[in-house]
Amino acid sequence: MSVASAGEIIWVLGIVAWYVIRYPFERRAKRVHVVRNARSRSDTLGLASALFGLAVLPAFYVATGIPKAADYPASAWAIALGAIAFCCALWVFRRSHKELGRNWSITLEIREKHELVRSGPYALIRHPMYTSFLLISVAQAFLIANWVVGVAGLIGFAILFFLRVNKEERMMLENFGPQYRTYMESTKRIIPYIY
Ligand code: SAH
Repeated sequence: MSVASAGEIIWVLGIVAWYVIRYPFERRAKRVHVVRNARSRSDTLGLASALFGLAVLPAFYVATGIPKAADYPASAWAIALGAIAFCCALWVFRRSHKELGRNWSITLEIREKHELVRSGPYALIRHPMYTSFLLISVAQAFLIANWVVGVAGLIGFAILFFLRVNKEERMMLENFGPQYRTYMESTKRIIPYIY
């Protein structure tokens, strides 16, 4: 097996593991009543960009090898780093889902009896789930030896993150008031102690 296809196989396994972690939360979320919805057209655009850059385009590339002109030689080091980044991403993703529990939503929503979670990864950063998406984008760039696919994940992530993060924090502030303000003072957004 070539180094390049090893990277692609690790990417596929990572995405499957990602869905296995998410699926039970998606099912459970359907049963928890939503009391406030800040879903907007820009949020749908952000989700679509992330889906395209982090799933559709790399899956298409793995299946067809297109765009071949953007391929570059894969390195075993890059693949190893990508595998490590994906493992970290899945760990953070699982931890933050467990911690958010019934408060999780795919878009911006406040659920019935919504509680502000400040434990686990949320003690350090306000958006660990987005941190896990950033790590998956980095993993994709290392695992798939193609410039277009490598960059697409990071762009998809950036569009989702920057379209959403201010709105999400505004929604949380409107809902939780001073409690969220204090929480913001003691945490960063996606990189502990830095940003
Ligand atoms: N931005 C968070 C959560 C993403 S899921 C993260 O990256 O980990 C999006 C939903 O999570 C939003 O609808 C919001 O209602 C909820 N949410 C975000 N931060 C929260 C927190 N600290 N406690 C409880 N719910 C939160």
